[in-house]
Amino acid sequence: MTSSSYEAVIGLEVHTHLMTRSKLFCGCSASFGSGPNENVCPVCLGMPGVLPVLNQYAVELALRVALATHSEVQTRSVFARKSYFYPDLPKGYQISQYELPLCKGGYIEIANGGESRRIRLVRIHMEEDAGKNLHEANYSLVDFNRSGVPLVEIVSEPDIRSAAEAGAYLRELRAILRYVGASEGRMEEGDFRCDVNVSVRRKGSDELGTKTEIKNLNSFRFVEKAITYEIGRQIELLEAGGRVTQETRLWDPNREETRPMRSKEFAHDYRYFPEPDLPPLEIDGQMLERVRAAMPELPAERRRRFQRDLGLGAYETAILTEDRAIADYFEALLNGGVIGSKTAANWTMTEVLRIVNETGKPLEEAVPPAAETRILLKMVQDGVVSLNAAKNAFSVMCKSGQPAAAVVARLGLAQVSDEAAIAAACDEVIAAESAKVAEYRAGRDKLFGFFVGQVMKAMGGKANPKVVNEILRQRLQS
Ligand code: ADP
Ligand code: MG
Ligand code: ZN
Repeated sequence: MTSSSYEAVIGLEVHTHLMTRSKLFCGCSASFGSGPNENVCPVCLGMPGVLPVLNQYAVELALRVALATHSEVQTRSVFARKSYFYPDLPKGYQISQYELPLCKGGYIEIANGGESRRIRLVRIHMEEDAGKNLHEANYSLVDFNRSGVPLVEIVSEPDIRSAAEAGAYLRELRAILRYVGASEGRMEEGDFRCDVNVSVRRKGSDELGTKTEIKNLNSFRFVEKAITYEIGRQIELLEAGGRVTQETRLWDPNREETRPMRSKEFAHDYRYFPEPDLPPLEIDGQMLERVRAAMPELPAERRRRFQRDLGLGAYETAILTEDRAIADYFEALLNGGVIGSKTAANWTMTEVLRIVNETGKPLEEAVPPAAETRILLKMVQDGVVSLNAAKNAFSVMCKSGQPAAAVVARLGLAQVSDEAAIAAACDEVIAAESAKVAEYRAGRDKLFGFFVGQVMKAMGGKANPKVVNEILRQRLQS
């Protein structure tokens, strides 16, 4: 047997914060980045005798996720207590959904090498997050700000077959979550967490092999690396006559390997039972229709539309639609039909994304409003400024917040297209370089660039190169 006679089987469990202002069962702020234990109350501290009250907006966001992933919303779902002991869980149980989740089924479509494939979902359910332990050298602290922050867990079927597909799935899921405004999907900040289940089996087999679960993955790159490592480890083990043990493993980013954390607990260890302090969650048709009516266009639809209606390629489309704000900006540049889709696409992919990445700010803070950028691009189109000058102007606009026209005027970036002025400069150069002119006329075509350069120099680099080319060609021919 070789590694190529095995097939990897992967299922992902993603936990993602919902972008509510308050927590799932109390009025405390759900915001990230407050001082330790600033956002707490008796409910989220798990004091005895307090009562949880469900945040309706969290339910609405969860429904948006469900509709975006074609998942079947259940008219009745039930919150349950999942019991375990941990210092960041003062109640001794987490309120989650178990037997009757909010949604069942659904799928996420991923593109892998030009083909698109559906990764089916098992379920989507709501739950509260736990607090956070902070381990110091000789002691540990607990911050309960995160305790009670709303989460949805999105569980895939084991339909994923490679590390690259897992990456594609996660990117698509994150794009969906951001488009519908359900979550920001920031993995580094713990907004979007992924547990990876991996097994291998002989190709052609329908049976599932024993899986391991890998936790502690806080970047897409680590997810892909951990899967690749784990597939190799399991195949090697089986090839040596061993067996895979069902267990939870941790990814160690420094040593780039997974290692055992604990043997996997079973559901009955959690003693799930219905939460007696919350009624079953009923979703009526009216509520679902209201959410459906407010759904935005989804990334997959937008990609199709950009390719079909705007003539963009798959690569450009993928970059432009990954983030809703970027896609919106690109489309706003097209408003009024002044700027072509290729020009707008190139500008967004190079200049806009460059500034967003360099500044690390949200798009709307990093770059001028699209209407202002459109004015600049129109200047390029009309030959008022060169493309390079426009790039400089754009950087200055982003920093100073000044309008395009003001920046172009202040920096003296406008090109001279005045034919009389350019013709005069051309004549001067031709007169001064009579020897080279003779060589050119005798057939040294390459000298043309030299003349262009001289004219540009004479005009301080501001002449419209198109006009310079036309006039020079005319003058040198005669
Ligand atoms: P557990 O009870 O261990 O949490 P679940 O059945 O709830 O397992 O599945 C958790 C995740 O593991 C799901 O995403 C599922 O698709 C995936 N999964 C289940 N069995 C396997 C397997 N044999 N190999 C890979 N992934 C699997
Ligand atoms: Mg599980
Ligand atoms: Zn609270």
